[in-house]
Amino acid sequence: MSEIFENSGRTELSQLGEFGLIEHLTKNVKLYNESTIKGIGDDAAVVSHGGKKTLISTDMLIEGVHFDLMYVPLKHLGYKAIMVNLSDICAMNGIPTQVTVSIGISNRFSLEAVEELYAGMLLACDKWKIDMIGGDTCSSQKGLIISITVLGEADEDNIVYRKGAQKGDLICVSGDLGGAYMGLQMLEREKAVFLETPTAQPDLEGKDYIIERQLKPDARMDVVELLKALSIKPSAMIDISDGLASEILHICKQSNVGCKLYEEKIPIDTLTYETAREFNLDPTVCALNGGEDYELLFTVPQSAYEKIKNQPDISIIGHIVDESEGHYLISKSNNAHEIKAQGWNAFKGA
Ligand code: ADP
Ligand code: MG
Repeated sequence: MSEIFENSGRTELSQLGEFGLIEHLTKNVKLYNESTIKGIGDDAAVVSHGGKKTLISTDMLIEGVHFDLMYVPLKHLGYKAIMVNLSDICAMNGIPTQVTVSIGISNRFSLEAVEELYAGMLLACDKWKIDMIGGDTCSSQKGLIISITVLGEADEDNIVYRKGAQKGDLICVSGDLGGAYMGLQMLEREKAVFLETPTAQPDLEGKDYIIERQLKPDARMDVVELLKALSIKPSAMIDISDGLASEILHICKQSNVGCKLYEEKIPIDTLTYETAREFNLDPTVCALNGGEDYELLFTVPQSAYEKIKNQPDISIIGHIVDESEGHYLISKSNNAHEIKAQGWNAFKGA
């Protein structure tokens, strides 16, 4: 199950020292963007987005809180840590361009383990041509901490906020939902089996798609590019990190509007659907509250309907109504259910 601690060759981090480690980790960093004037190696990076606006977002991941190394390989963790940051820039309708990466690591981790983490991060950077331009390296007493800051660019006129949704707008979502959550359920179940019977082999056969949705999400840069190619500027947009319910409520709250979503329109992959059933879960609830799909949820004026209706990777799942009409999901049996946010709460149990 866990490959991380089974490295045959183990190099202690103390053999390299901080500067040796930084040099080693960043020796393969490539720069792709003209906007990067100076990357790693000085006291600060220098970036110029020319006449464009700079978008900035930052995220922190803590072992045991945000990820579990029992079933998350470090390479996947690095990849996902970068992608979830890029996703935030996409959600503003911007193009991510640079990241800084700060890590806190304990001596439990070998050089080979940290190399895996960086291999995943650099793979994600390479996919969307993002420059790693700096970071910080600290020791931690216990556990792994990763903090990533992403910079992006956009023309001022193209930036899309959460606040612009208007009555009558269509509510759209990219890809499919609930898969990352079902992938997590599978991994959690296998972990429980493993803890009880360490000799048991993980049984994830046929579940590749949802496992990948959990471990290797992609930022939807392609959707940002598609919208641009279709000359559609969404009126509001957000990325789905906490689940559809929570995200649509963010858009509605900031736009002072209500919404109607239709259960039958919510895109759910067959494997997600079947796995939810296996777990005695309602697939729609998984899509609404599961989270971590990193798809884009956005609203467009009705005039964009003709352009968007035949896009295979975009679903129209409802429309915006007056705030006084509330926030409802119309079920397949035509009942109206009030939408409530049950997204992940950063301080639950604290
Ligand atoms: P300073 O002491 O001035 O903060 P550092 O020695 O921490 O500088 O960093 C040297 C260079 O390496 C800087 O460009 C910094 O941004 C970069 N850097 C440090 N740690 C990391 C890391 N974990 N990943 C990527 N770049 C890093
Ligand atoms: Mg430093």
